[in-house]
Amino acid sequence: MAESCQAFRHVASGLTSRFFLTFHFSVNIVIVIITIMQRVTKQREILMKVLRERRDHPTADSIYTEVKKILPNISLGTVYRNLEKLAEQGTIKKIELSGKQSRFDPVTLNHAHFRCIKCGIVEDLPFNAVPGPLDHEEPWVRERKILDIKVEYQGLCKKCRE
Ligand SMILES: [Zn+2]
Ligand SMILES: [Zn+2]
Repeated sequence: MAESCQAFRHVASGLTSRFFLTFHFSVNIVIVIITIMQRVTKQREILMKVLRERRDHPTADSIYTEVKKILPNISLGTVYRNLEKLAEQGTIKKIELSGKQSRFDPVTLNHAHFRCIKCGIVEDLPFNAVPGPLDHEEPWVRERKILDIKVEYQGLCKKCRE
C-alpha cells in the first residue's frame, strides 16, 4: 500500500512538473510573440512618422536611412517588409512610377503625381487632376475589374526649370 502510494506520488509529481514545464514553456512563447508584436508595432509607428513628415514620396532606401537614426539596429529588409505590409493593408500607398524604384506615399486617396525627369523629385499635384469615375455601365468596363488609377505627369520641376 505504502509502496503504491509512493509510486503514485512519484508519477503525480512527475506529471505536475511536466505540466509546469509545459506551462512555463507556453508562457515563454507567448512572451516572445508579444515582444515581437510590440517590436513590429513600434517599427511601423516610426516608419509612419518618418513617412508622414516627408512630402517627397521617398523610396524604401531613403526611408531606411531616416529610420536607422531612430532604430539603429533595423535592417533594410525589415523596412522593405513593413512598407510592403502597410501598403497591402492600405495604410500607405505604394507608387510605381515608370521604370523607377517604388516610392511610398502616406496619402492613400487618389491623386496625381508629377515626376521631374532631371532630379527625380515626385510631387503631389495640389489640385484634382485624376480623371473622373468610369462609367460602370460601359461594356468594356463591365468586362473588367478596375482597381486603381495612376496618373503621372512628367517634366521639369521648379528648380530644374531655372
Ligand atoms: Zn527637378
Ligand atoms: Zn502622392
